[in-house]
Amino acid sequence: ESQLNPNYNFESFIEGDSNRLARSASMAVANKPGGTSFNPLLIYGGVGLGKTHLAHAIGVQIKDKYPDKTVLYISSEKFTQQYIDSVKGNTRNDFIHFYQMIDVLIIDDVQFLSGKTGTQDVFFHIFNHLHQNGKQVILTSDKAPVDMQDIEQRLLSRFKWGLSAELQVPDYETRVLILQNKLYRDGVEMPEEIVEYIAKYIKSNVRELEGVLISMIAQASFNRKEFTLALTKQIVDKFVKNTKREVSIDYIQKIVSNYFELDVATLQSKTRKRHIVQARQLAMYFAKRMTKASLASIGSQIGKRDHATVLHACKTVDNLTETDKQFRRYVDDLTKKLTF
Ligand code: ADP
Ligand code: MG
Repeated sequence: ESQLNPNYNFESFIEGDSNRLARSASMAVANKPGGTSFNPLLIYGGVGLGKTHLAHAIGVQIKDKYPDKTVLYISSEKFTQQYIDSVKGNTRNDFIHFYQMIDVLIIDDVQFLSGKTGTQDVFFHIFNHLHQNGKQVILTSDKAPVDMQDIEQRLLSRFKWGLSAELQVPDYETRVLILQNKLYRDGVEMPEEIVEYIAKYIKSNVRELEGVLISMIAQASFNRKEFTLALTKQIVDKFVKNTKREVSIDYIQKIVSNYFELDVATLQSKTRKRHIVQARQLAMYFAKRMTKASLASIGSQIGKRDHATVLHACKTVDNLTETDKQFRRYVDDLTKKLTF
């Protein structure tokens, strides 16, 4: 069947500045699948910000409004697996044919297609067929198309045909609304000051907000307690500590420079001396690995380079760690310094 979760709908998706564009584009697509210029619609953003929820909401609304349309939601991992199975079972043509018959195709987390050239190739053909026939394609990804790695150029250019809409981290007011809405739906009452406390300190994503609520509800009923501020502080504290500390690009540059006994200005300079180039590439690599910054933003902060330079740096570091023992030591040492 369509694999849609009816609970992920537009009514349960709280609107805020962080998601307004993505939400309204999604509604436009849901009301007129294949009939807007948002084809494909690509929803991108960090983990737990509502990409999967919105993608389902579109499908749910289309099913409601156009019961005769075939809608399919699938994760890109599952899509890849189905493709691999079809190759093994000699049913590749059936696989393609099946997907070309769909009216609305929703593929979640397309970043997982990176490096999978066979799957990308087959998806390219399916996409073209659907698009030419006015069928709607909806994609989600953790990155904007410009920052996607190891996705074929011809596919990336297709991704850019329609609209890319970002989901950002919700602001405080939206976080309060999301919590209140969730409590209301679960039939739980919680003092306002407690809701506000959670919204104030849990600010990285919506999944975490929900995690704190689940934890609170479980503990409160277990202890037959009311929701106290003390209990809240305890739970919120645990969540904040568990969330991976986000290091800044400045901090990474300081640690890397220090490790190679350079100053940050030298690291950022245009010099092509080999050991400085390596240090710079390592800084870019760690910035990519440990922050949410885009390639373009990393490049501009590390000596005004462009995103291609950063991408090249990440690949070089990946290759060198596999082939060069000394280099591997650098990466291990720096990983320790940056994570503890
Ligand atoms: P992603 O796919 O981006 O990692 P999800 O769509 O799985 O994130 O969202 C994580 C959780 O947060 C889900 O339970 C989802 O319902 C909820 N959520 C995200 N954004 C909102 C929102 N704006 N309003 C209500 N719930 C939201
Ligand atoms: Mg998701």
